[in-house]
Amino acid sequence: MDTAAIRNKYRAERDKRLRADGNDQYIEPTGRYAYYLDDPYVEVEPRALLTDEVEVAFVGGGFAGLTTGAALKQAGVTNVRIIEKGGDFGGTWYWNRYPGAMCDTAAMVYMPLLEDTGHMPSQKYVHAPEILDHCRRIGNHFDLYDNAVLSTEVTALDWDDNAKRWIIRTNRGDEMRAKFVAMGTGPLHRPKLPGIPGIETFEGHSFHTSRWDYEYTGGNPAGGLMTGLADKRVGIIGTGATSVQCIPHLSATAGELFVFQRTPSSIDIRNNHDIDPDWFGELEPGWQDQWLMNFTTLQTGGFADEDLVKDGWTDLSQRIRDRMVEMVNDDPSAFSREAFVAAYRNCDDEKMEEIRARVDALVADDSTAEMLKPWYRQLCKRPCFHDEYLQSYNNPNTHLIDTGGKGVTEITPTGVVVDDTHYELDCLVFASGFEVGTTYARRSGFETTGRDGLTLTDHWAADGMRSLHGRNVHGFPNLFVVGFSQAANLISNVPHNLVEAGRTVAAMVKHAIDVGADEVEVTAEAEQAWIDRLKAGDRRFAADPDCTPGYYNNEGQPDETASQIGGLGFPEGPVAYFQHIDAWRSSGEFTGLEFR
Ligand code: NDP
Repeated sequence: MDTAAIRNKYRAERDKRLRADGNDQYIEPTGRYAYYLDDPYVEVEPRALLTDEVEVAFVGGGFAGLTTGAALKQAGVTNVRIIEKGGDFGGTWYWNRYPGAMCDTAAMVYMPLLEDTGHMPSQKYVHAPEILDHCRRIGNHFDLYDNAVLSTEVTALDWDDNAKRWIIRTNRGDEMRAKFVAMGTGPLHRPKLPGIPGIETFEGHSFHTSRWDYEYTGGNPAGGLMTGLADKRVGIIGTGATSVQCIPHLSATAGELFVFQRTPSSIDIRNNHDIDPDWFGELEPGWQDQWLMNFTTLQTGGFADEDLVKDGWTDLSQRIRDRMVEMVNDDPSAFSREAFVAAYRNCDDEKMEEIRARVDALVADDSTAEMLKPWYRQLCKRPCFHDEYLQSYNNPNTHLIDTGGKGVTEITPTGVVVDDTHYELDCLVFASGFEVGTTYARRSGFETTGRDGLTLTDHWAADGMRSLHGRNVHGFPNLFVVGFSQAANLISNVPHNLVEAGRTVAAMVKHAIDVGADEVEVTAEAEQAWIDRLKAGDRRFAADPDCTPGYYNNEGQPDETASQIGGLGFPEGPVAYFQHIDAWRSSGEFTGLEFR
């Protein structure tokens, strides 16, 4: 390997893709574009306004709401209401029903509450319909449907300091009350559209991948053939993790398929297989917590006797670990931060060479293969794993239109222009992703106002997100944030963060009820101490400076602003965070909180 040449190539590819407008290049689906957010999966039924009161309200019916709801029920807190914008539970798995949707993280660690619900995943990596069914299973198992409010979007959360209650307003005109509110609105919740000139002029059919229009395409999320596309010229903009999964299905059914690529994804081996029920039946009780910790340990650079998950996420870490062990065995004094970084770079170069060689092995046309090769480190962008994506480009109806890092030039009433070539299209699919770098209120779709009229936006405006453990915010009594920021920040298996967060919220609520407290709130000092601890550790997901732009690195723009604080994780890493939070909530002392 000529590592210097690889480095130069990485920089050249990044420079081609860099643009001054960063996150501003995308369009919000509001106003004339608001229809891109309509729910295609249910007819919303009229219902009476709700003005009642619940003990705990949860905003969001995805994994965050389901795992927290389950933990609350297990703690004996029964008066729980999940409020969900979609027509059912599922969150990201409710919305993302595009053909081929599946989860890149192994089901044994990705699907929460497998032991509680008794579900055995069908495969190592399961498809979206099975995950959506599992969300419904959790809802049924823990009776979370009983009090749920679906097809309802929260529009405002306001703390009433006299009544010591949260007032929850919704787009259905409700004005409910809750003693406690938790919110898990997801980091990639709000679809975004590319701000391509002329996008509003397109007269063909178009939709975002998170609102797949099966009425138009035919087929279904289970993989039924999209017969409606047989005589259509279909375009898809974007080649991220979503597109990689749906392109094989579009390629198999569309009359002609045009894939507009700005940056190729890295496509590692999927190697999926069925789960053997006999093997599954032999697992000892408590296995899922052990698997979760094993995956997290190995994925974040730690050591374990056995790799239980064995997949692409742990492969790079495993290589680095092996190299370090070899080095230390030869010379124990050789261990250093610099040696670790060198081992990482070396293993990454090796890995990416394999990924590029795989493109050559699977794609017949040499120039198409060249365009599909990713020239950046594996963790610069979301790594993808697929066994049919690359081969799609061998189908004569499938055309890769590479835009040289620049993106689509223009959209017209009848198609898409790249450079000087116009591609006539009947249907245009936007696989353009979701908002990441925008403010919390914008992404969740509502403002949260705590004591003395303080909004979360203002509280977090000057210095970025502030919290204790990523959960409690000073000035916002009885409010809990359920996510991964300022906590474990484990991105390879988001549900692990949520399971732990749910347990923590349940412990706090249960304790407040047990001691008869009206309010639970983090002190200003404890919140500041947590921020200081995170800042001192400065552990963040730092993309390599040579990385091609994307949402992992703020679109390639330097970001020394407040938003960086939200990206800080526990200094000693995710495993240490999970141990810390377990000890904190199990001690029953809840250090840093006031129960009044
Ligand atoms: P992404 O943000 O990853 O991808 C958006 C795509 O649109 C990129 O290829 C981007 O190019 C392209 N794009 C944007 N603007 C333009 C333009 N003007 N012209 C041409 N192309 C453009 O969104 P996804 O929906 O693919 O994935 C979002 C996330 O969802 C993933 O990163 C992952 O975390 C999650 N996901 C997880 C899955 C799982 O298995 N668990 C499956 C699917 C998604 P560029 O790269 O140059 O910015």
